[in-house]
Amino acid sequence: MTDNRIKKIVIVGGGTAGWMTAAAIAKVLGANYCDVDLVESEEISTVGVGEATIPQIQLFNRLLDLDEDEFMRKTQGTFKLGIQFVNWTRIGHKYLHAFGDVGKDMDAIQFYHYWLKMSQMSDIDDLESYTISGAASRQNKFIRPFDAGNSPLSGIAYAFHFDAGLYARFLREYAESRGVKRTEGKVVDVRLNNDNGFIEAVTLESGQVIEADFFIDCSGFRGLLIEGALKTGYEDWTHWLPCDRAWAVPCESVEPLTPYTQSIARPAGWQWRIPLQHRIGNGHVFSSKFMSEDEARSILLNNLDGKALAEPKLLRFVTGKRKKIWNKNCLSIGLSSGFMEPLESTSIHLIQSSIARLMSFFPNKNFDQEDIDEFNRQADFEVEKIRDFLILHYHVTERDDSEFWNYCRTMSIPDALTQKIEQFKKNGRIYRNSSEMFNDLSWLEVMHGQGIRPRAYHPLVDRMSVDAISQRLVGIKRVIDQSVDYMPTHAQFIAENCKAGRR
Ligand code: FAD
Repeated sequence: MTDNRIKKIVIVGGGTAGWMTAAAIAKVLGANYCDVDLVESEEISTVGVGEATIPQIQLFNRLLDLDEDEFMRKTQGTFKLGIQFVNWTRIGHKYLHAFGDVGKDMDAIQFYHYWLKMSQMSDIDDLESYTISGAASRQNKFIRPFDAGNSPLSGIAYAFHFDAGLYARFLREYAESRGVKRTEGKVVDVRLNNDNGFIEAVTLESGQVIEADFFIDCSGFRGLLIEGALKTGYEDWTHWLPCDRAWAVPCESVEPLTPYTQSIARPAGWQWRIPLQHRIGNGHVFSSKFMSEDEARSILLNNLDGKALAEPKLLRFVTGKRKKIWNKNCLSIGLSSGFMEPLESTSIHLIQSSIARLMSFFPNKNFDQEDIDEFNRQADFEVEKIRDFLILHYHVTERDDSEFWNYCRTMSIPDALTQKIEQFKKNGRIYRNSSEMFNDLSWLEVMHGQGIRPRAYHPLVDRMSVDAISQRLVGIKRVIDQSVDYMPTHAQFIAENCKAGRR
């Protein structure tokens, strides 16, 4: 039998995508399966942003067997219980897309339907008060989940904020200590096979030629291999997600240390705020069709909580995805595969899920086309569902105070999203499409948060008397409030468990 095993992998790029990929491959394949080289150029900087995550990142950390406290210390990390959206529904309005459960389901019916019935009858506490992450966020509290029986303290879901540069450095140490070889140098040429168009080698500025069987393109927006060499093509989604620029700037920390990302809608986009231990990461994502770069920059600088720590950096992007995320013997991971703005902090997750999918479809030198097609089909499904979730935030709004919001509110949207919104409006139901990433609770929180109210609640809610529902709601809220009382503040929790050293 011929040995078709992949003997060498080259990863081009050493940003978050490159080092996450290198670390995971080193861990899963072990040091002896094949050689792994990562090529990066210090002359070409990484994007340097990408600091908010979603809870699935814990699976990645577990795959790498990371000690979470050490990871937090080394990346100046903080905890995240959700994303607070400000001004999205209308100016002055706020809601939290909180991680984890919403209330407590009763008799197999989603909590929301009981809440809906009661809210139609009287003035009751808002939905957020019935989520542990929502109630804790309001008081800047945090604790990791622990075995507390039926208490909501057992079910806290959380993610992280971290410094992107420190995260890549942390993973680099991890990968290099497990056999990944790093080569410093700028890729200036890519050699293709004349017969099948597969990539054979990359050439560095120094003249060094690096051959491999399999290439992973983590070169960022430029997509050096997947686009530069293979001309794979790009699907542009700007008509649905019109933002195409971002200014990013760090600023000094302020108190309290909030356990959530903030997304504040602006006249032609939105501003992020990501609190870390040593600073706050900020950025203004905007549409250059509706606002000038200068205006966007000054809106950002005029809306920082602390003193700016650097000059703002401008990033330009085109929302969309590569037509084939895996093409021939080249897989694109990270920004080279496509980009959607960080409104729901999904890019690092997409890196992680591409890595997981790569492990499922790990090739040999034959590069089975059916496997590659299925990989691409699954990857497309995942990004398209996330895309629709992001469009929801822009489209379902009452805002009519700028051209940008008028465009977003009235634009046509994908059919699948229209169906989801209409179904929810009708009876509060959300159909989760098999493996789509955001679950029904996330859809619920954002549809509710953006102001949609279903016309009817679940008919089986009427099995319970109004008094009984009311008592249950009071009980659930009491338990949540007691649990939050028990929690330390976010700052205290970090001080006691994972405080980073002074920088
Ligand atoms: P990059 O960081 O651009 O790295 C590219 C690498 O390729 C670099 O090491 C560079 O040296 C190397 N390279 C390029 N060309 C060559 C060459 N010719 N030769 C050798 N090496 C080369 N994601 C989230 O999950 N959460 C967020 O909150 C979030 N916020 C974001 C905000 C903005 C404005 C943007 C633009 C992105 C955000 N992201 C976020 C996405 C996140 O930043 C990226 O997914 C992540 O950083 C991965 O980037 P990358 O490694 O693909 O590319």
